[in-house]
Amino acid sequence: MIEIITIGDELTSGRTADTNAAMIARELHAAGFSVQRITTVGDACGDISAVLRTCLPVTRFVIVTGGLGPTEDDRTAAAAAAAFNDTLALHPEALAMLREKLERRGRTMNAPQQKQAMLPSTCTLIANPVGTACGFIMRHENRHYLFLPGVPAEARAMTEFVTGYINEHAGRRHAIMSITLRVFGLWESAIQEVLNYAPALPGDVCLGFYPHFPEVALRLTGHGPDEAAVRDRLEQARRVIAEYLGGYIYAEGDISLMECIGKLLIDSGSTVAVAESCTGGLLSHLITGVPGSSVWFERGLVVYSNAAKTQLAGVGESLLTQHGAVSAPVAQALAQGIRKRSASTWGIGITGIAGPGGGAPEKPVGTVFFALDGPEGCRVQQRRFTGTRDQIKMLSAFTALDLLRRTLLGLPAEVQ
Ligand code: AMP
Ligand code: MG
Repeated sequence: MIEIITIGDELTSGRTADTNAAMIARELHAAGFSVQRITTVGDACGDISAVLRTCLPVTRFVIVTGGLGPTEDDRTAAAAAAAFNDTLALHPEALAMLREKLERRGRTMNAPQQKQAMLPSTCTLIANPVGTACGFIMRHENRHYLFLPGVPAEARAMTEFVTGYINEHAGRRHAIMSITLRVFGLWESAIQEVLNYAPALPGDVCLGFYPHFPEVALRLTGHGPDEAAVRDRLEQARRVIAEYLGGYIYAEGDISLMECIGKLLIDSGSTVAVAESCTGGLLSHLITGVPGSSVWFERGLVVYSNAAKTQLAGVGESLLTQHGAVSAPVAQALAQGIRKRSASTWGIGITGIAGPGGGAPEKPVGTVFFALDGPEGCRVQQRRFTGTRDQIKMLSAFTALDLLRRTLLGLPAEVQ
């Protein structure tokens, strides 16, 4: 009784993989609904209208994504109006939401953006918590059409509304609940491998994998007529997963690794400073992305050259000549140097080879040394990452943060 329609030339040309349809289908399945058909259509207005008018006879709900943007090739609102004998009208509420969002980002509205508030006159709005374009709902004959933006993060943020809406309008009084567990340090396949040894999850609890480089979110969803029973089964599932993945789960809910570390440092009244080489400031950037991080982040240095390592972090020249800049002793000296000079509780040192050039047989591209110096001594780790330069930098920054998290929690350093 549900169909998904995804819209866009980028999908029909194969330039972009249709991740929205899979994501929405997965979420609906987890909430106990099944999808009968998925259709993809290009940006031509007449084609979109035709697809909207040709649903399967059983279909009661149609989820549509794409074509709600500000540009000329975004034609979904016009196509929907044409399909259902409606016209476009300016929705003052949509315009106000749009203006407010742009102003919060310090921008004023331009004419193309204003177009995003021109929607079918009979539609009702769906708020978009992450982007500017509103979603909207149309009723035609006995069907409900829910239109969402194509940007995957926005479509995802609005999917919870969609499952709630369908649950309510399908006359099914099921409670739908979910828990998100955030994992760093294991890829999807490794997580699956570990969970293969775990006992089966309670019958109607679904486990969804949401990889978001460099981490994976695990979403547990349960549904059923009795809210307390759903909560119990979900909690049972959460315990199973937590037992098997242990310290790889860094948080539950909507919280980043950086925020998680900020909380731990605030709770223990401690501070951190970093001296980073191959990550080029990325670690400091990630940390300072957390509002209020000035309380626990003392300073960050980008010590790219040997001279910078010596002058700013006090790395001995002999260490550099003897072991090379990318080495465990230099990582250790960076961590100890920055900790001492900044008088912070914790000092982090990172040095490595992000590639694509610069590798050697004994130190191939992706080799990164991490050190964490603290009240109880210095912990040093060597890792070998694969991926692009950007990916290696991101993995390095996250691994350094995870080493701090594990140390603060008294967990063993991760071994892979
Ligand atoms: P649109 O809302 O059509 O302007 O799309 C905005 C962005 O989201 C574009 O960069 C698209 O490539 C992307 N996008 C649109 N539809 C999908 C989809 N079904 N799956 C993945 N990405 C999409
Ligand atoms: Mg488009």
